[in-house]
Amino acid sequence: MNLEEIKEEALRDIESVKDLQELQSVRSKYLGKKGLVSSALKRIKEIPPEERKEYGRKVNEIKELIEERLKKREEELKKRELEEKLFREWIDLTVPVRGAVGSLHPITVTLERIVNIFRGMGFTVEEGPEVELEEYNFDKLNIPKDHPARDMQDTFYVNKPGYLLRTHTSPVQIRTMLKQKPPIQMIAPGKVYRRDDDPTHSPMFHQVEGLVVNEYANFRHMKYVIEEFLREFFQTDLPVRFRTSYFPFTEPSAEVDIGCVICSQEGCRVCKETGWLEVMGCGMVHPNVLESCGIDTDLYQGFAFGMGVERLAMLLFGIDNIKLFYENDIRFIRQF
Ligand SMILES: [Zn+2]
Repeated sequence: MNLEEIKEEALRDIESVKDLQELQSVRSKYLGKKGLVSSALKRIKEIPPEERKEYGRKVNEIKELIEERLKKREEELKKRELEEKLFREWIDLTVPVRGAVGSLHPITVTLERIVNIFRGMGFTVEEGPEVELEEYNFDKLNIPKDHPARDMQDTFYVNKPGYLLRTHTSPVQIRTMLKQKPPIQMIAPGKVYRRDDDPTHSPMFHQVEGLVVNEYANFRHMKYVIEEFLREFFQTDLPVRFRTSYFPFTEPSAEVDIGCVICSQEGCRVCKETGWLEVMGCGMVHPNVLESCGIDTDLYQGFAFGMGVERLAMLLFGIDNIKLFYENDIRFIRQF
């Protein structure tokens, strides 16, 4: 093949390339170590000495031309691939909705699942404001002024003195006890806010807390409610254990672990090889909390528990990054 033929064929090849992979093989066909252009350059020895200079110049000219055309074609192909990708993933948000389209957000699915189980056990559902009185969020829950949870690093305060973004849904329990006499058997689902931000923490997340106050509430009663809930939630007879813990608003307090639902207690990354997953906190309501709401502690006692909805959703659906819940990427949400 002479130089002119190499040039003509190269230009034709580049023009007919359909994707970046093909482009790569055309590139090595001509410019690779054993490519046609390199071979042509090696043949310079066979050329009469007086023509070598001109020959070398021509080969280089062809090489530069091929390089230029390849680059141009690559840009065109990249642009086209991007356009095709955008077209494939394009969603017309202006199309009117006909019937039921889309699906529920995994957090909504999880919240409804939790609420329905407790409703079935006779709990009422109470709600409260997200901008809350500091008094309800902390003071009445036996969280003293110098408690670390009040630290500016954990709590979002608002401009109005005495108000904050609630750090848990516990103030809803306070509101319920202030307006309703026992017996009380309620849950409080909702958004809460803390200054936390990493793959397992978000500055806004959802909690469900529960409160039972009556004449006979005790630890065994609480244990039964929590175990029943967890087995119903995960739809399996999983092992549950209670570990002593500390919360200012309960005494005694416990942390609740379930046997790892990812590895069936064999040990995995999610349970840090322990076979157990911490899923909620609970305890007998501290008498100071009941008294701060005007409940007679000679007559009544209570228990309370709280859980993070994102945490439970991540375990239920096997999701490992909490941020996926808030990006509202339709490719993610569609899976539920
Ligand atoms: Zn595990």
